[in-house]
Amino acid sequence: MDLSTAGADIDRVIVTAPEIQARLKEIAAAIEGDYVDRDLLVIGILKGAVMTMADLVRALNRHVEMDWMAVSSYGSGTKSSGVVRILKDLDRDITGRHVLIVEDILDTGLTLAWLKSNLQSRGAKSVEIFTMLRKPDAAKVEVDVKYVGFDIPNEFVVGYGLDYGEKYRNLDFIGILAKGVYS
Ligand code: IMP
Repeated sequence: MDLSTAGADIDRVIVTAPEIQARLKEIAAAIEGDYVDRDLLVIGILKGAVMTMADLVRALNRHVEMDWMAVSSYGSGTKSSGVVRILKDLDRDITGRHVLIVEDILDTGLTLAWLKSNLQSRGAKSVEIFTMLRKPDAAKVEVDVKYVGFDIPNEFVVGYGLDYGEKYRNLDFIGILAKGVYS
């Protein structure tokens, strides 16, 4: 879905569809360079990272394996609850594997900090993170992120996988949700 259809629900576009694809090409090139001669297992975090994952792996000019996890850290609102729950676990053992977590957004960092240590505790050889978006509050947490798509302002955003109450995930761009939609 594009901006003309989303209309008044979107306050402002912050990352356009072409900007997303261009940045993913750069990130894919960096990943190819960093993982030469190493098997790579890319783990997408459902549901927000579906678009990022699908476009990233197609931009990668090498073999990768893919798996998925679903965790919940938010209710249906716009504030992080701080409680992480596994809704869907990995299909495989990751002992000895090089793992790259692909996430949609780093806000408080609670979700990714928890996920990284969870995967490390399963015996992965390395665990790195790619987040498409990063908000300023992320600076306050001790979570080491290797690849970042875009640093964005501290606003609630939707699109390209990110939702508000399960809506807007299919926007082909990332935009700030108009306050009138949730206040
Ligand atoms: P954190 O634990 O606060 O870093 O939150 C990460 C998760 O919260 C993401 O995976 C998203 O599902 C959700 N989230 C955080 N900020 C936003 C936003 O601006 N729009 C939509 N979802 C968000």
